[in-house]
Amino acid sequence: MSQHPHLFSRYCMHCGQRLVSAVPEGDTRRRLVCFDCGFVHYINPRPVAAVIPVSERGEVLLLRRDIEPRRGTWVFPGGFMDLGETAEEAARRETREEAHLEVGELELLGVYTRTAPGIVLIVYEARALGTPSAGHETAEVAWFAPDAIPWDALAFDSTVAALRDWARKHGHPVPEDLPAPADL
Ligand SMILES: [Zn+2]
Repeated sequence: MSQHPHLFSRYCMHCGQRLVSAVPEGDTRRRLVCFDCGFVHYINPRPVAAVIPVSERGEVLLLRRDIEPRRGTWVFPGGFMDLGETAEEAARRETREEAHLEVGELELLGVYTRTAPGIVLIVYEARALGTPSAGHETAEVAWFAPDAIPWDALAFDSTVAALRDWARKHGHPVPEDLPAPADL
């Protein structure tokens, strides 16, 4: 995730006039509206697909982010879906790009909404196949045993929530007072 997902033009993509914040007829929320041609610029949450790769020894793979936001913190591989691909395909592609890793069958762990940036994170877990290495947007990769997950150095609140759910699902202890990273 190299930029905020909702950067957008203040100008109509159809006719170039300046968009105005207004409630369109029949709507209940303010939108960016073009009063010249009637175009309504809807801004919706964007899906991010991710994988928690798990080794044969039951460790999870985390990547240290080499990009903002939250550069230097740890996260599992994931990124924005592209048009034309499924969530599963996006999750596998991001794991390949960021960690040079193929994974086995994907099992849905959970869906996490980050309301501030407008992101819906879809998280799978899967068995790691092969040896990972740092790829795109990644400073380093490392395996963490369940009792060694760096809870206070994770990237996002959704990262904490998904790893907490993964640990509980597999019967591993989770710290009682989990830190809450900024919801960037
Ligand atoms: Zn227009």
